[in-house]
Amino acid sequence: MQYAEKSPALWEAIHHEEQRQQETIELIASENIVSDAVRAAQGSVLTNKYAEGYPNKRYYGGCQYIDQVEQLAIDYAKQLFGAEFANVQPHSGSQANMAVYQALLQPGDTILGMGMDAGGHLTHGSKVNFSGKIYQSYGYGLNPETEELDYDAIRELAVNIQPQLIVAGASAYSKIIDWQKFRQIADEVGAYLMVDMAHIAGLVATGMHPNPVPVADVVTTTTHKTLRGPRGGMILSKSPEIGQKINSALFPGIQGGPLEHVIAGKAQAFYEDLQPEFHDYIAQVVKNAAAMADEFNKSANVRVVSGGTENHLLVLDITDTGLTGKDAQALLDSVNITTNKEAIPNDQRSPFVTSGLRIGTPAVTSRGFKEADVRKVADLIVQMLNEPDEKTKQVVRDGVQELTAKYPIN
Ligand code: PLP
Repeated sequence: MQYAEKSPALWEAIHHEEQRQQETIELIASENIVSDAVRAAQGSVLTNKYAEGYPNKRYYGGCQYIDQVEQLAIDYAKQLFGAEFANVQPHSGSQANMAVYQALLQPGDTILGMGMDAGGHLTHGSKVNFSGKIYQSYGYGLNPETEELDYDAIRELAVNIQPQLIVAGASAYSKIIDWQKFRQIADEVGAYLMVDMAHIAGLVATGMHPNPVPVADVVTTTTHKTLRGPRGGMILSKSPEIGQKINSALFPGIQGGPLEHVIAGKAQAFYEDLQPEFHDYIAQVVKNAAAMADEFNKSANVRVVSGGTENHLLVLDITDTGLTGKDAQALLDSVNITTNKEAIPNDQRSPFVTSGLRIGTPAVTSRGFKEADVRKVADLIVQMLNEPDEKTKQVVRDGVQELTAKYPIN
């Protein structure tokens, strides 16, 4: 360990985390593994620099190279998504969403987003989040039969509550989202349409999910999920006028100095996302998720919510295994398979317990896993959930060891 003598306890923990990542099958749908170049950009001297403001309009001297870096990130982002405006400064996806609300709404205005129990994000109006405290928030759910978005029901709710802003997008939804239907609803009630494409941005960038940028007023995303960049957020729009409002809402509205080292990591990731290899990568992510759904569907007591997946993730209903989502997550952790508990539609258990698991393929695909490998992983999970004894644990640990050794993180 290169820096062990500088701060032994810290570097030991970092070393252990490195080992954990090597030895674990990572199925958290919002995680990924970045390239060495992204990590190098993020660990660069850019962390030393203050650059409040935007390129060519800074409050500090010495920003000539920082301006080049941030402008590259903006230009690549606009190219990736066909946007007229991009702000690459949000420290996170949550900050990006907060900036949009601040730019377009007044405190007390009404927002309509996907309920967290249906697969929405905290920042889409949850009562424990700023979005549900500052604004009057309402949540839409899924059709109980199809477990898919029910656009007629969303329209009806929107007509009743007359929101100023509608949020489309999700953290745990496995089907294609129809942006045009959301646009029609927003237009009917005179609301802004914000799309939060955090989970599916990589699919959008490669044409494997319809692009919301030409349809929505504003689009937010994280940069660390399917885009395979550093942790952070971004805001896009087809409208330079809305862009102006967003810029001032973010800085000086809610942030100070931008994290230019992270922005350099974003520029590097976006450059990689523009290459043909990224298209192949996302195509494999989607094929892997479909293969896993198919394999789970063969099991007697693990059910894929909504029957399957059209993107990078799937939600499993594990009620019939007799385990809760919380127990299943802990059980899989004990055999080096990392997942997260997830509410299923109309879940009778609390969000801390749940009856489901969310499974995503971006990280394992970055390591090189193909369909046969992820089918094997699905089988290991089913075995573990059905017979969680010591013998099965050993079999599953061996299976995980074989796969992680076959595809090391380099
Ligand atoms: N929006 C969606 C749809 C998300 O899934 C997430 C994170 O999981 C976020 C926003 C928030 O991102 P962050 O964790 O960077 O604040």
